[in-house]
Amino acid sequence: MTKHILITGGAGFLGSHLCERLLHEGNDIICLDNFFTGDKKNIDHLLQNPRFELIRHDIINPIYLEVDEIYNLACPASPVHYQYNPIKTIKTNVMGAINVLGIAKRTKAKVLQASTSEIYGDPEVHPQNESYWGKVNPIGVRSCYDEGKRAAECLMMDYRRQNSVNVKIVRIFNTYGPRMAVNDGRVVSNFIIQALEGKKITVYGDGSHTRSFCYVDDVIDGLIKMMNSSDEFYGPVNIGNAAEFTILELAKTVIGMTKSNSEIEFLPLPADDPVQRRPDITLAAEMIGWKPKINLETGLLRTIEYFRKILKIP
Ligand code: NAD
Ligand code: UDP
Repeated sequence: MTKHILITGGAGFLGSHLCERLLHEGNDIICLDNFFTGDKKNIDHLLQNPRFELIRHDIINPIYLEVDEIYNLACPASPVHYQYNPIKTIKTNVMGAINVLGIAKRTKAKVLQASTSEIYGDPEVHPQNESYWGKVNPIGVRSCYDEGKRAAECLMMDYRRQNSVNVKIVRIFNTYGPRMAVNDGRVVSNFIIQALEGKKITVYGDGSHTRSFCYVDDVIDGLIKMMNSSDEFYGPVNIGNAAEFTILELAKTVIGMTKSNSEIEFLPLPADDPVQRRPDITLAAEMIGWKPKINLETGLLRTIEYFRKILKIP
């Protein structure tokens, strides 16, 4: 049976890949976006498909739609963009969650919330598993995003307990791949673009802090598997790649793979930047049979090719 699926933030990096996958699987897709960080180019190739519909809408305002499933991705994900207008960021997280849960309550749709590893803040537990409650600064520059996402998880659980809404919470760890915006500002796209353009590679701090990078196709598989999992399993579940690298290792890998002459420039570390981050993905393997398939080198190759093409660098 054809499902009617709403994807908020559908014109963004992850959202556009999700629209494409679910459309090709034969579903009717409504892509909702206010184009704050999203781009029509990301979904241009889908617009001719009669099963694909685009709505320009800001999810902080209510909207009435009839759907079977909702993937709630609307929210800028890069620190540069979510700190640009922090009040808007927290509104998007909280009011956006309330509005999609309102649709779900009325239509009995299932809701998948794109939560984040930022829930864990600057973690004292390593690797991070879902039972860890996190160490988040509630008044810092990242809190519009971190606390906004925590409040959205709370709303998901309260709508489940109070209104029996079928919710699914996925904590996504750092994801990269084609269709990250050129001005995104996150580390993988920054380093690749800087290396391809022969500019200095901007390592914040001394480069010893760590992240675990997951290729976009793996994350999309994880989101769809979670949406299709048993109604009893609502998460939260970590989706990410457990291979952990220092930021300096990433910089050197990107320089090597692009055969760039770029030098590394060390800049001050932004406030509250988590020192280390690696997902424990045991629960995802057990409950939804998911684990990532694409290693960093393969994923970087594909991403470098993408940026070479759009930046027209031979
Ligand atoms: P992105 O910035 O590329 O996409 C976000 C999309 O949401 C954009 O198209 C943007 O225009 C749209 N949007 C923002 N505010 C909106 C609003 N008020 N109303 C309607 N649309 C709005 O980011 P992404 O990397 O694709 O992330 C998608 C989701 O996944 C976000 O919720 C993010 O928090 C979450 N996430 C992503 C990562 C990652 O590494 N990519 C990690 C953890 C969580
Ligand atoms: N970072 C960096 N140089 C950049 C962009 C980011 O060294 O040009 C660092 C950043 O300080 C953080 C890590 O890379 O420690 C990941 O940053 P990103 O913005 O990609 O995502 P975060 O995990 O912090 O949300």
